[in-house]
Amino acid sequence: MKTVNDIDFKGKKALIRVDFNAPLDESQTITDDTRIRAAIPTIKKVLADGGSVVLMSHLGRPKKGPEEKLSLKPVANHLSKILDLEVKFASNCIGSSTENLANNLKNGEVLLLENLRFYKEETAGDVAFAKSLSVLGDIYVNDAFGTAHRAHASTAIIAQFFPNQKFFGLLMARELENVELVMKNPKSPFTAIIGGAKVSSKISIIENLLDKIDNLVIGGGMAYTFIKAQGGTIGNSLVEDDYLEMALRVLKLAEEKNVHILLPEDSAIANEFSPNADHSECATKNIPDGWMGMDIGTDAIEKYKTCIENSQTILWNGPMGVFEFDKFEAGTKQAAFAVVRATEKGAYSLVGGGDSVAAVNKYDLKDHVSYVSTGGGALLELIEGKELPGVVAIMS
Ligand code: AMP
Repeated sequence: MKTVNDIDFKGKKALIRVDFNAPLDESQTITDDTRIRAAIPTIKKVLADGGSVVLMSHLGRPKKGPEEKLSLKPVANHLSKILDLEVKFASNCIGSSTENLANNLKNGEVLLLENLRFYKEETAGDVAFAKSLSVLGDIYVNDAFGTAHRAHASTAIIAQFFPNQKFFGLLMARELENVELVMKNPKSPFTAIIGGAKVSSKISIIENLLDKIDNLVIGGGMAYTFIKAQGGTIGNSLVEDDYLEMALRVLKLAEEKNVHILLPEDSAIANEFSPNADHSECATKNIPDGWMGMDIGTDAIEKYKTCIENSQTILWNGPMGVFEFDKFEAGTKQAAFAVVRATEKGAYSLVGGGDSVAAVNKYDLKDHVSYVSTGGGALLELIEGKELPGVVAIMS
């Protein structure tokens, strides 16, 4: 894998695709700068070598052209503070004024382009747009793992204009290396903990994992589709009736492949989807009418903990219940602490994909697991076994 560590940027201009899609509040203040900080090591490497940096990113989903509330200008200001140097800003991504700014950039300086998605050509993967961007740098670097699953102009198409001058950024390299650790030659027992709302969004991941894992721990709203498929009564719990057959097929496949499946035998239930709902516990296959499964139950928690703590490799995607409501967080919280204990005993643990990351952050455990991925969709597609256009573009 060719990374920025394989090249000296002295006197060179690096054109770096980063993922600065940070959440902003109404007054355009950045509420979480994790994504911005994740790109700092790559930027610093280029600057330390004596090169200059042109950064490009998207922010949000602008519908039709420029929208002031989705401008990257506040990000330039924030980045200036982190880097302790003035970050210049180009209010257009392409064209002569931007080319002048890039050409006049001195070694040690940084320029950030306006939101790439103000141009519809970006998501369309337009070759001419990619070519116009490519003149802004000598070397192309992709450090935007969060958008690596998109074949957009700046994430993949642009790479063809840098045949021998394209490299992975340090964040991208770290993400790929960590996924490789779990997907190629994982240490056994390998446990995948899969939760979250919908089975439909996780089915391909589960199918791809069945050849590699020893245990599949299922929780969250998706568990109830499996329980109903097995003939259980699930009250008002979340269910995807279109996936009942698929759920049975996965269970059968797992049995054929000797994968031990853990479904919650009991559940914490609520009489409404609310943090203040009445709370009770029952067998998951006998949830009364008018009640819904909100979390795995006490017995399930104990079984899941034992399984997780005896694992050598752990992949965790998706919460075990509605952990945002304190009454229904026990399953997710206990699973998180079990992952930490397994890691302390020497297991390798990768947490990734949306809400499981939020859960790890809720309990302040991110430094106690092996790796927390910054990628949502990109990570899930890698686990599904797909090739990411942003990765292929650098490799080829
Ligand atoms: P996902 O994005 O598919 O990983 O789903 C995450 C969401 O699933 C979180 O917001 C959880 O609150 C929700 N969730 C987890 N368990 C349940 C459940 N039993 N019923 C409804 N929603 C759930």
